[in-house]
Amino acid sequence: FLVCAALLVSMNWILALITFVLLGLIGWSLQHFRPHIRRQRRTIQDGQSHITGRAAEFFAGISVVKAFAGEQRSGRAFAATSRYVCDLEERNSRLQGGYMGLSFGLLLLIQCCVVFVGAYLIITQPETLTKGELVAFLLYIGFINGSLQRLLDAMLMLEDGFAALERIDEILKVAPTPADAPEASTPPITGTLALHGVDFAYETAKPVLRDFSFRFESGKTYALVGPSGGGKSTICQLALRFYDPQCGQVFIDGHDLRDVDQGWYRHHVAVVLQDPIIFSGNVRENIGFGKDEPTDLEIAAAATRAQAHDFIEALDAGYDTTLGERGVSLSGGQRQRIAIARALMRNPRILILDEATSALDTMTERSIQEVIDGLQGSRTVLVIAHRLSTVRNVDCILVIKDGRLVEHGTYDDLLAANGVFAELAEEQDESATRPV
Ligand code: ADP
Repeated sequence: FLVCAALLVSMNWILALITFVLLGLIGWSLQHFRPHIRRQRRTIQDGQSHITGRAAEFFAGISVVKAFAGEQRSGRAFAATSRYVCDLEERNSRLQGGYMGLSFGLLLLIQCCVVFVGAYLIITQPETLTKGELVAFLLYIGFINGSLQRLLDAMLMLEDGFAALERIDEILKVAPTPADAPEASTPPITGTLALHGVDFAYETAKPVLRDFSFRFESGKTYALVGPSGGGKSTICQLALRFYDPQCGQVFIDGHDLRDVDQGWYRHHVAVVLQDPIIFSGNVRENIGFGKDEPTDLEIAAAATRAQAHDFIEALDAGYDTTLGERGVSLSGGQRQRIAIARALMRNPRILILDEATSALDTMTERSIQEVIDGLQGSRTVLVIAHRLSTVRNVDCILVIKDGRLVEHGTYDDLLAANGVFAELAEEQDESATRPV
């Protein structure tokens, strides 16, 4: 482009001036397309991620789709999303077509103008331009047009890239919350967790915890029970420091959790969720995930404590059995015990079991209850329990209702108090909850 531009100027400055003025006008008019193209590319990319999300959702919930005979409905919903994106693509193609068409047309217009003005010059001032020079001039303009067209093509790709970059940038700009304090400390952690006057709300208008205070002593097992939506999981989220309370403080061994390095703290905490994630890989990898370079001995010890060792040994390839989508599917109780073993691998000072037994049958529930009982004394354990029978032996039961601690004590004390806990126990199967 630059070499040809220099040659044009040296050959005839009037024609070169006309060419550059027109090129400038083309560049200026095409600028107006760019924001529209970028906006449309952005909407299309959002739509494409929506399609992928929908497909992933339907595949993950395929049993629900089938059970509700929802194949056709899901197909239609997927088709509607795809149609929407397809329409956007079509509109975008038209806009890009317009952009490319206009640019081709305008570049041709330059050649036409040069032919007319050049012919006029040859006729009126033959000493300034010869026919041969005009042909050479047009040839150089052709080179310039070729390089500009490639540049305009690249512009379209760039707009697509910039739209994607905006989306990536939005994610990268999200600051991790809550953030570590600048001088976050790494104190030794024994596991005494205390909430002091905690008020917490996910959304400002809806308080979830109100003036909640309690001290979980190191080495003891606590159960959080109460009606659904009362705030039990929220207490665990605060204990994991996924959130900071709006009012009050959470302390770990006397240190405000906000002043403790999050990575350091979470090395001492482990959590088992209601529906544990089993990764693709073998049993050993799944249990060992909790620790860097775990030994076989450590893995077997954790599995034994989680009462998983026996069933793992009974699998075809023992600890080498492949799990996950491509491998053996485990029962709910087995998955739960693998997840507990994974949590124990880290030898956490605080172990949180979030409704770990609610989806299990009575037999499995009992074995998990034995696991929970076996953990007593070694670390602080917080169990969110739906079935009260599973927490009969814990050191202390906290009854949480509407974000407040309404009662706490041992299973028998709470039953004897005849309060909210006794009501809950009565609501559940009495024969299963009351001591025989
Ligand atoms: P529980 O564990 O006792 O069933 P939760 O702590 O899960 O109760 O929930 C307490 C309240 O907080 C509920 O009203 C619930 O809808 C709300 N809640 C829970 N998690 C979130 C969240 N991530 N965003 C907004 N509200 C939430």
